[in-house]
Amino acid sequence: TKWTKDRIIADAHENNVHFIRLMFTDIRGTIKNVEIPLTQLEKALENNMTFDGSSIEGFVRIEESDMYLIPDYDSWMIFNWDVPSDGGRIACLICDVDTTKREPFLGDPRGNLRRVLDKMEALGFSSFNLGPEPEFFLLKLDEDGRPTMDLNDDGGYFDFAPTDLGENCRRDIVLELERLDFEIEASHHEVAPGQHEIDWKYNDAIRACDKIQLFKLIVKTVARRHNLYATFMPKPIYGESGSGMHFNVSLFDKEGKNAFFDESTPDQLSKDAHYFIGGLIKHASAYTAICNPLVNSYKRLVEGYEAPVYIAWSERNRSPLIRIPSSRGNSTRIELRSVDPSANPYLALAVILQAGLDGIENKIEPPMPIDRNIYTMTPEERMAEGVFDLPSSLSEAIAEFEASPIMRDALGPHISGNFIAEKTMEFESYKKQVTQWELNKYLMMY
Ligand code: ADP
Ligand code: MG
Ligand code: MG
Ligand code: MG
Ligand code: MG
Repeated sequence: TKWTKDRIIADAHENNVHFIRLMFTDIRGTIKNVEIPLTQLEKALENNMTFDGSSIEGFVRIEESDMYLIPDYDSWMIFNWDVPSDGGRIACLICDVDTTKREPFLGDPRGNLRRVLDKMEALGFSSFNLGPEPEFFLLKLDEDGRPTMDLNDDGGYFDFAPTDLGENCRRDIVLELERLDFEIEASHHEVAPGQHEIDWKYNDAIRACDKIQLFKLIVKTVARRHNLYATFMPKPIYGESGSGMHFNVSLFDKEGKNAFFDESTPDQLSKDAHYFIGGLIKHASAYTAICNPLVNSYKRLVEGYEAPVYIAWSERNRSPLIRIPSSRGNSTRIELRSVDPSANPYLALAVILQAGLDGIENKIEPPMPIDRNIYTMTPEERMAEGVFDLPSSLSEAIAEFEASPIMRDALGPHISGNFIAEKTMEFESYKKQVTQWELNKYLMMY
């Protein structure tokens, strides 16, 4: 059932909703929200709710400070937590952002993704589907409620996150997600101590990104209730696996059929699937900054932890950037393994879709798949097979992004410009740091 204005208002009354969070995401990927009381709901649903955008860093220029929030009716959702003292409940609506002139605001990542989806429709496809596999760590809190990292004093290695503590918390997270319409497919402990993964059924692009944002909010909220801190930082612990967020993607055609599937070819992948992979390979260096946006992201993209380091694709093994899971039919999909959970999902999906569509439009043939473990290939063997490295630092990745008009276009000049400026500053600040590793290594040697 599609939500209408009247149905939402009736639902709010029936369920004793007192407050509504109007949510959107900034360029950095942080969820922002403006909370309104029930009396303002109708006004909000009529697209008349404004907010002062100038308070949001990196989001607007001063002269465009008044923005309209345009709620997406289908995102209407009543939370089961944060019940205030009077027992009234809190609901949320995810919004696009319009300017004072009531045009889509170019700095809105969600609205920007719609722009790339329009291009996809013009090319004859009906939807772009995303099934993400986010990983995260649950950390114990200290007496002051701050997350602890006492893994390094190898003493308490196994005490650090007693399995039952983490698993109980994860079960509560899954229960909460199920109440909020997530179709959970799997939830399991990951390789590192304290590390978990939860997978749910794929959705079309916008909804899938909305769900990632809600997911992070729910995981953090439920973890707090269990006296744990949930972090989506890509590589919190040296020597342990980092947290990724594999993106499983597929295109459906206008008949609702999976456009990556073709029964008649040897690998049962369509021409378009191959071209999409071609685009993903061609632009891999350029979109890495968006999928791996932190200095810390590059500490995850190293050898030895199942994280991709090389630009290649495979149907068999899990070392390359792109894997084609063996399912076919409607589940035919491409798995991009570089993305990490610090990425802004709306921006990441926009660059990935643009890269793939460029492959389709320009019939970009991918290189041969590499079906052996790339980590064990010598540099010469990789060279011979045309396997290049992913950017190995944020500064390298920013330079690659900046040099790619097609990837910059996927985000538009406003978001691209802001992103490059902010990330350049972030890297410059990091570069000047003197780290513990340097002190350990050099202080007493020289
Ligand atoms: P892995 O084998 O890499 O651990 P998972 O089974 O954990 O993969 O996750 C697979 C993800 O792919 C799920 O989110 C699932 O819903 C999603 N998926 C399945 N079919 C499609 C499809 N056609 N398009 C996009 N995602 C899909
Ligand atoms: Mg998985
Ligand atoms: Mg699996
Ligand atoms: Mg995993
Ligand atoms: Mg996976």
